[in-house]
Amino acid sequence: MIGVAEALDIILARISPAGIERVMLSHACGRVIAEDVVSGVTIPPLDNSAMDGYAVRACDLASVPVRLRVIGDLPAGSRWSGALGPGETLRIMTGAPVPDGADTVVRQEVTRRDGDHVEILEREDTAHIRRAGEDIRAGARVITAGTRLRPAHSGVLASITCAVVSVYQQPRVAILSTGDELVDIDGDPGDGRIVNSNSYTLAALVRENGGIPLMLGIARDTPNDLRAFFQQARHADIIISSGGVSVGDYDFVKDVLRDMGAEMSFWKVAMRPGRPLAFGMIEGRPAFGLPGNPVSAMISFEQFVRPAMRKMSGLRNLFRRTLTAVADEPVATRPGLTYFLRCRVRRESDVYRARVTGEQGSGILMSMAEANALMVIAADAGSVQAGDPVTVQILDPEFDTTAAHQF
Ligand code: AMP
Ligand code: MG
Repeated sequence: MIGVAEALDIILARISPAGIERVMLSHACGRVIAEDVVSGVTIPPLDNSAMDGYAVRACDLASVPVRLRVIGDLPAGSRWSGALGPGETLRIMTGAPVPDGADTVVRQEVTRRDGDHVEILEREDTAHIRRAGEDIRAGARVITAGTRLRPAHSGVLASITCAVVSVYQQPRVAILSTGDELVDIDGDPGDGRIVNSNSYTLAALVRENGGIPLMLGIARDTPNDLRAFFQQARHADIIISSGGVSVGDYDFVKDVLRDMGAEMSFWKVAMRPGRPLAFGMIEGRPAFGLPGNPVSAMISFEQFVRPAMRKMSGLRNLFRRTLTAVADEPVATRPGLTYFLRCRVRRESDVYRARVTGEQGSGILMSMAEANALMVIAADAGSVQAGDPVTVQILDPEFDTTAAHQF
């Protein structure tokens, strides 16, 4: 049986970045930019005032208070054509270009206006001028390809007049649940049937990672039904199924994928939860047969589908953020398996601590819902004692915010 790292290498070797499309800047936030962006302009283009006040020559303020003659008014968006002479000043608003001859702006708060003169009452040690190019220099790379765009990037791109942006296409991910016991969310979960929750968790994970989920529904545990559903999924960029991939009498996913010509790379990965896991390529598209147990399906998605989706999305950073935390309690493991334990990480003064969120059965979704991280115990690491350092993968995108409230 192959290990987690080896499985991931096999998968990632098969994935290449998606195609590129052009979108309006107003729709670009959250997308992954496909090209380096170099500014053709300087921001701000000119030295301009950081305050409402008076543009002056610093040499005129050798002794204060001093009276200067106001020769004009400079609102934001207008430019003074002349230059400032000795003893002269211009009324200037925030953002207006600093006129020739001036090298300082005096804040209005330290002046007293008197008709066409103004008295400067204090001398400050800042010039209150925003320098040309202090934000962006012409020729500077402002965004690197493979970055997921955030609101600040929208502002930067707008400032340099980049109205249309090249981004990677979002992976379309077909999601198929398998199992005779499954009913839809509006079905009757009596008589040993259970609601198909995996389609919802998997669709949410796809969306959380910038993909477009295509929820195909529930296939019955027959080769024919499975084949029909996998046929429908063929046009997606990634295919994921859950269930029907282990050694039960009705586990036909592997056989069907193989019959359809999928080139299968592996069936099992040495991990817990989630040992059964099929991966192969159907007509050049990656297909993942995830285990059916809800937590196994999620954790297998996290470890394998997510990095694949991110590589396909053009992202440079494929993996969850990891931290070293101190384990609150011992964890017994069997050698040869990589363990992923649902846990809650918190900060206590200058260390992170991790507590397992209760029962770790692979059907217990609540312990996944309560977790903000996964504790990863490598296959050769042996059991963990209370107080041991452990690696945790942070799952909760709000983790920093939560932590900030705690200390
Ligand atoms: P399987 O891998 O098909 O043997 O499924 C293992 C267990 O996972 C089943 O007994 C179900 O309880 C559960 N399961 C499978 N598919 C789903 C699903 N789509 N939603 C929720 N639970 C599921
Ligand atoms: Mg099943």
